Amino acid sequence: MNYKDQKTKILLSAISLLNCIIVFSQSIKAYDGHINVDINQRKIRATFEITFNTLPQDDTIKLFIHQSANIARISSNSNTIEYKELSEQFQEEDKAIEISPEDIRNKKLTIAYSHSLDRIENENFQFNENWHELNLYTAWFPLNMEYGRFEYSISAQIPENYKLVSSGTVSNNRGFWQINQKSPSFDIPIIISPQFKSISVAQESIKIHHIDLNSETEKAIENATNSHYDFLNKTLGKSSTTNLTLAVNQFNRPMSYARKGFISLTVRNSFSIKDEQILAHEIGHLWWNKVSVSNWEDWLNEGFAEYSSILILRNTYGDENFDKNIRTLEHRIKDLPSLYKLKKENTKNQSSITYKGAYLLYLLETKIGREKFSTFLRIVHQKNIKKTSDFLMLVKDELGEDVEKFLNEQMNK
Ligand SMILES: [Zn+2]
Repeated sequence: MNYKDQKTKILLSAISLLNCIIVFSQSIKAYDGHINVDINQRKIRATFEITFNTLPQDDTIKLFIHQSANIARISSNSNTIEYKELSEQFQEEDKAIEISPEDIRNKKLTIAYSHSLDRIENENFQFNENWHELNLYTAWFPLNMEYGRFEYSISAQIPENYKLVSSGTVSNNRGFWQINQKSPSFDIPIIISPQFKSISVAQESIKIHHIDLNSETEKAIENATNSHYDFLNKTLGKSSTTNLTLAVNQFNRPMSYARKGFISLTVRNSFSIKDEQILAHEIGHLWWNKVSVSNWEDWLNEGFAEYSSILILRNTYGDENFDKNIRTLEHRIKDLPSLYKLKKENTKNQSSITYKGAYLLYLLETKIGREKFSTFLRIVHQKNIKKTSDFLMLVKDELGEDVEKFLNEQMNK
């Protein structure tokens, strides 16, 4: 692993830790933006109106943005606001904008700026006119992860021959693109390209976009997506969600990442089992996404999606693969805090709700047997369970008091 890779890895783990920290006194509700991506000038011009749920009482507001960002104006209620630019960094190539909360009216803040795409230093996301990818790693929009997750709505102007893919609902009316994300998220990923090849799979609910996959890899991804979707559809019943956007590249990046209903997947020379497991987890979220992500109850999303990915791989590759995945899970949960009522501030929150949640389901399956477990999973999905207390009640009703007691105990470990 070279130095750059190492730096990237450290940055990514810092981000996943920060993702778990939410300061409740200070949170952002929504971003409403208009952006213009000028490929010839390699520039983004953007205006974001940020709506807060609550403003800090005595602290300052701090937003991080790319160091090349040229702030045109910051305002609230049409009044220009004074701000400070600080050299403080959240990542390696951004800066902080500091604003006094006293200047903010109606909890709304508007920031207009431009940002040079040539100045992106992150090797994974440098300017590429055939596949330009924006996300929090490029610091392209003003963000402070401590302010929590937010909804967003963005209108985007891009060159006429380009297409745009993103998380959420994307529509296009004569070159005018609109992105709406109603599930609270902590990132705004956008990819634009003049060369997207797009295929629709899994009864139109999953779209795969790429520019340069060889036909063998494209087929492997298409088959895996279809077969995993079908398996869960058969096991759990109809999915409650809408859609998944899968953007696949072969840039030899050291990373893939997933956001709500969106995966940016890097495959190496071929589509590996590791790539497949990331994909399977995200497909799992088409069923397991009903629960609030703002607290520990999120284990009902993450733990279930993770265990679903393990079941998907067991269905495809058999018990040997399953045993290996369970051993990995056992290794991962060592030293993790109990997920029960785990505070968002705990830095191991995301790992605990994902892996301890999945392990809890493994313990349940082992206790009641595969067939009963499969039926029970289907009931959990169909009853639209959104709280652990309702989940435990369902366990009691369907599987008996002993099983409920067992799970309750395990959950506190
Ligand atoms: Zn997940």
